[in-house]
Amino acid sequence: MSQEIEAFRAEVRTFCEQELPAELRHKVFYNLKLGKADYLSYLQVLHRKGWSAGHWPAAQGGCDWTPLQRFVFEEETASAGAPWLIPFGINFVGPILYTFGSAQQKERFLPRIRSSEDWWAQGYSEPGAGSDLAGLATRAERDGDSYVVTGQKLWTTYAHFADWMFCLVRTSQEDRPQKGISFLLIDMKSPGVTVRPILTMDHCHDVNEVFLDRVRVPLENLVGEEGGGWTYAKVLLSGERVLVSEVGRSTRQLRRLEHLAQNTLKGGQPLADNAAFARRLAELKLRLFVLRATCHQTVADAMAGVEPGAEASLMKLRGSELQQDIAEAMVDALGLAGIVYDARDLAGMGQDPGFGPFEAPGILKDHLHGRAATIYGGSNEIQRNIMAKLALGL
Ligand SMILES: Cc1cc2nc3c(=O)[nH]c(=O)nc-3n(C[C@H](O)[C@H](O)[C@H](O)COP(=O)(O)OP(=O)(O)OC[C@H]3O[C@@H](n4cnc5c(N)ncnc54)[C@H](O)[C@@H]3O)c2cc1C
Repeated sequence: MSQEIEAFRAEVRTFCEQELPAELRHKVFYNLKLGKADYLSYLQVLHRKGWSAGHWPAAQGGCDWTPLQRFVFEEETASAGAPWLIPFGINFVGPILYTFGSAQQKERFLPRIRSSEDWWAQGYSEPGAGSDLAGLATRAERDGDSYVVTGQKLWTTYAHFADWMFCLVRTSQEDRPQKGISFLLIDMKSPGVTVRPILTMDHCHDVNEVFLDRVRVPLENLVGEEGGGWTYAKVLLSGERVLVSEVGRSTRQLRRLEHLAQNTLKGGQPLADNAAFARRLAELKLRLFVLRATCHQTVADAMAGVEPGAEASLMKLRGSELQQDIAEAMVDALGLAGIVYDARDLAGMGQDPGFGPFEAPGILKDHLHGRAATIYGGSNEIQRNIMAKLALGL
């Protein structure tokens, strides 16, 4: 790490200490429920600092951050208690638009993504197309100056917050399935768009079904070439894997686990002094250490112009497994208090949940919600297949 990058790290830390709203940090630290206003309070302080899209090119309103700066930013902010930086606008559709979009699309959408005036959702998965995304069936047919879109998207995160959804749709049945896919921008207020909530097993509403019933989408909302959607989507997916490792978040959660272990008594002794638990904690710390080192290596490769290969999948795999194992250790640390869960307690700011320590509901929510970490962003089985192909040539 150069002095320059350490100075940048210090600047991010100071920013977090001084600018992150205290109430938000508290909610994030205890895994309480976050609403749109909570996320917005973070995005607004970032925007004021000029950091809402730090990794974008300066010409597009970003700061030209190197991959290492971007990694350090994510690590430090998440570790300090910033919420998940919802990626759909800033990390996903923004870079696609400035790389493949028309001049008019850039001018219309990019400033509003940076300022969080527009919120975006990602409409890729469908009931019959997740791992096998190329099998998607949502149709877009040309009719005069519009596409008419009909189909269903599934698991669409925060579609209920979104003003826009970037969507993969089928514009042709001919040729290879991948070649008939196009990338469309759909205004969520269009007639024919219906968002239906899905409550996940943590009893929270983050994901949705989105029904598209003869939705008219102007031709100007096609990004790039008709039939080019698969290529654009792949560029997007490959760029995100270092962040998916969620090193900063796991650092914060491990710190919390240590705190819990020191303050939970087992047989009159702190759990942290129990040999079996101490060993488990040490293993988790080592795994985080190795994951972080792997991220650094991948970032160094990226800065040398080497595209991530199997390492990208490795980081998704190890990062998500680590998250789940930390969450599981926290539930175990709760002991009996870990068997009662009431999602209503997640709105509270530390009031007594009636059973167990006040932080128990947040710990259980993290454990339940975290089961999805090995599914979204490409399931871990699929990551293993990719690694087998790229690294082992199978
Ligand atoms: C919380 C959450 C949020 C999400 N947010 C979004 C979002 O915002 N936008 C969006 O578009 N999508 C989103 N998704 C969808 C996500 O990308 C898919 O769930 C994921 O790609 C898996 O697809 P699937 O659910 O259709 O499962 P399937 O593809 O049907 O897979 C079912 C099981 O079979 C395994 N499997 C499938 N194929 C293979 C194979 N070839 N080899 C070995 N095993 C295989 C999978 O690993 C999995 O265990 C989200 C999902 C979740 C859970």
